[in-house]
Amino acid sequence: MCELCAARSSPWFDRRAFLAAGAALAAFPAFSQVNVGEASRLRTLVPAEKLEQMATAQYAQLIEQARAKQALVPESHPQAQRLRAISSRLIADAPRWNDRARQWKWEFSLINTASINAFCMPGGKIAVFTGLIEKLKLTDDEVAMVLGHEMAHALREHARERIAKSQGTGALLSLGASLFGLGDLGHMAASVGTQLLTLKFGRNDEIEADLVGLEMGARTGFDPKAAVTLWQKMAKASGGKGPAFLSTHPSGTDRIKRLRENIPRVEGLYREAVARR
Ligand SMILES: [Zn+2]
Repeated sequence: MCELCAARSSPWFDRRAFLAAGAALAAFPAFSQVNVGEASRLRTLVPAEKLEQMATAQYAQLIEQARAKQALVPESHPQAQRLRAISSRLIADAPRWNDRARQWKWEFSLINTASINAFCMPGGKIAVFTGLIEKLKLTDDEVAMVLGHEMAHALREHARERIAKSQGTGALLSLGASLFGLGDLGHMAASVGTQLLTLKFGRNDEIEADLVGLEMGARTGFDPKAAVTLWQKMAKASGGKGPAFLSTHPSGTDRIKRLRENIPRVEGLYREAVARR
């Protein structure tokens, strides 16, 4: 449920040019195939523990609301088991991207609502809406790409960075309360979207999430080419009001083009992972 790359285009091209130039110079993590650089130092202005605690509390509240409205899909449901299995494979690769993830208490929930959406809160609290899976008829590989993207926002601590940039630490508590203060389930999709919009993950965050998600998927045996078909399906579903996910993740040709360009970087990892399975 990140923010998105809407259409403010001039900084976008500047940013891409910067990234391209920086790729040759910066000390990118040697362990990754995609170039995403170091996580922003700004994020250190916001205590990770605090944000993770707030996310945990609000996630619990969200799940309770879903349960009260009988919208929480039981863990024993085949679809919930399928999605949990996919997320578990991705989680195994999470510490590569953020050491803190070793101590996160990852949680996964499938919520029965028509909205095409999914998110991963700080600290590894994942929720998928059934609309995402059913309306787009996602394959396992495509599910992995969208979950990898959302998990990457948490692992790269984009919420910390965004809050640091936009509010400073003084406003952390009140912002956090509104950020994760979800309304009743009937308005949940809109509410979550509205609240998280206050975060406004930027284009660079979206690029990082796409690339980190792509590599996480490949490393855990999911076909990276599914990132392209995922966004094509999103785009196709965008007629009329469109998926809630797209309000924060426009499926532009730039996004698909960049993913295509990066697939060769991770294809070897994918083949190795498949061979190990
Ligand atoms: Zn995103």
